[in-house]
Amino acid sequence: MSIAQNVATIKQNIAQAAIAAGRDPKDILLCAATKMNNADAVRQAIAAGVDCCGENRVQELTAKLAEKAYAGAPIHFIGRLQTNKVKQVVGRVSLIQSVDRLKLLQAIQTEAARQGIVQDILLEINIGREESKGGFLVEELPTLLPKMGEFPNIFVRGLMAIPPICKISSNNDKFFHEMCNLSVDISSKKYDNVCVDILSMGMSDDYESAIRCGSTMIRVGTAIFGARDYTKPHPRDVNIQEEK
Ligand SMILES: *Cc1c(COP(=O)(O)O)cnc(C)c1O
Repeated sequence: MSIAQNVATIKQNIAQAAIAAGRDPKDILLCAATKMNNADAVRQAIAAGVDCCGENRVQELTAKLAEKAYAGAPIHFIGRLQTNKVKQVVGRVSLIQSVDRLKLLQAIQTEAARQGIVQDILLEINIGREESKGGFLVEELPTLLPKMGEFPNIFVRGLMAIPPICKISSNNDKFFHEMCNLSVDISSKKYDNVCVDILSMGMSDDYESAIRCGSTMIRVGTAIFGARDYTKPHPRDVNIQEEK
């Protein structure tokens, strides 16, 4: 199957899952998770109509930006971000989805202030409480969110989660529902620099259940590009692969 055909199939599935859940398909954005795929593959996905591209590694982001691979689509950062690489991401992507710790918030604030911009982010939530994963714990949010006013160069657009990988995709429904409730709860309150309208959850194996549970953005890699080549693994991707 070509990338264009895969994107078309996923869009049909998005529409079906949305309609079955009484939702408008337009309310769900498709983010192509482009890690380990080259500029040409990224261009094909954009031409096929994905809504944005999500990159995991700073090195790949920088290389593909130099190749103008993302022309025509917003770029998001979706991988674990080291504070010493924040300079190469802030201001270059429209959304950093994987903000998983206070130290990173502080580093993004410093860099965004230096550039004189406001950086949109999502807070990554460790919804499965897994030691191997980053992300804020649900109980940290009541103290974190009121503090967002102290980060004038950051705007929180919503939440992101990578639930535990499990064989039966509906097993993650519990986590997806928890995320949705959390997001509804936060948007009902008023916090400075916070407006929760994005709920990023669902990947190749479980995006339809994520949509049924209220996801507004799915991040899909394998179902668009095919299986990734892990002959030269990267620590983070090794984790992802082993969990599958
Ligand atoms: C790779 C990746 C995805 C996509 O995973 P697939 O299973 O290939 O669809 C989504 N989100 C993040 C953060 C990823 O790293």
